[in-house]
Amino acid sequence: MLDLDALQARYRTVTGEEPQGLWFAPGRVNLIGEHTDYNDGFVLPFALDKKAVIAGGRRDDDQLVLVSLELDDEVHTSIGELSPGTEGWFSYLAGVVWALREAGHSVGGANLVMTSDVPLGAGLSSSAAIECATVAALVDLYGLDIAPMDRAKIARVAENAYVGAPTGLLDQAASTLCKADHGLFLDCRTLETEHVPLPMAEQGYEMLVLDTKTPHSHVDGEYGTRRATCEAAAAKLGIPALRDVEDLDAALAQLDDETMIKRVRHVVTENERVLKAFELARTADLAELAPLLDESHASMRDDYEITVPTVDLAVDTAKAAGALGARMTGGGFGGCIIALTKAGEADRIGQAIADAFDEAGFGAPVWFTVTPAPGAGRLS
Ligand code: ADP
Ligand code: MG
Repeated sequence: MLDLDALQARYRTVTGEEPQGLWFAPGRVNLIGEHTDYNDGFVLPFALDKKAVIAGGRRDDDQLVLVSLELDDEVHTSIGELSPGTEGWFSYLAGVVWALREAGHSVGGANLVMTSDVPLGAGLSSSAAIECATVAALVDLYGLDIAPMDRAKIARVAENAYVGAPTGLLDQAASTLCKADHGLFLDCRTLETEHVPLPMAEQGYEMLVLDTKTPHSHVDGEYGTRRATCEAAAAKLGIPALRDVEDLDAALAQLDDETMIKRVRHVVTENERVLKAFELARTADLAELAPLLDESHASMRDDYEITVPTVDLAVDTAKAAGALGARMTGGGFGGCIIALTKAGEADRIGQAIADAFDEAGFGAPVWFTVTPAPGAGRLS
């Protein structure tokens, strides 16, 4: 639970002043569309009701005072000292100051005291939550006029160029642009977005998010290999990106490498599933999305080969315990699963997975239910 009183008290202790405002940005889960972003494809995330909150104030000098409540750490730096590649948690905030200035915005010193209940390193994008909350704070404190998608792009520059993590725009777009009770359909080529209704509570459903707590290993290498294979396949097919495959069977017939065939099949069918989910969510009962979640998981397991035993056990157990649909969410090799369940069932299904983990000798997972929440904004 976020303790906003403690946040404001810490701000007062550190600065001797009252904060000039509180800003927030959420973490996210991807409902569907995995490893499609770098193939110029489609994704459909929604924001979590877990978020980073920043108590902020503008300073008259060029100092940056950055505090994390969770880490109980206070960092003093300055605009002049900003340097891409600086290690440490505070780079997610400092990187935003740097990215805003690189983009030509007039930003000076600031006090930014943060807290967050987005689980860290679970693939729920605690990093984007911090970046997007920082953008929201600085935009208001310095009276900047930046359109929402451009705010997301600034946050992404902070993550890519300053922190040095080569991620797509999905996380920052979701954290910035999402709406309560909606998913965000994002075309990763054109950057066009559309809010898609996900009235889970209204239709009598809920969404379980379960963190398998599997330590990620070899993730960067595997990610790089998948990406390279997709690019090589697109080159072989003579198209700019796998997004441009129009006839899957014809495309697969042009390839001879078994691994490449599987990777292409995942990306192309996953894009189709996102488009189908997008259509269904606008017109149908959300239960009709459930088979797409199952198919997405099978495709990630069998064709993209990015699941691990804990994740597969979590998904299989969720289904056996009555989930309508379930899939791994995020880049893979661990992280979280999501399961669409009838209202009131998610917690029981989480417990069933915990029991199965215990029996299999896996560590204890952590789970909670989520409702699609709004993107970044000002709290007070
Ligand atoms: P994810 O975005 O999937 O949670 P990342 O590795 O991208 O994982 O980001 C996690 C990093 O974000 C942490 O290592 C830390 O540097 C920073 N971070 C997340 N939450 C906090 C927090 N409450 N306080 C300070 N830094 C945090
Ligand atoms: Mg991250």
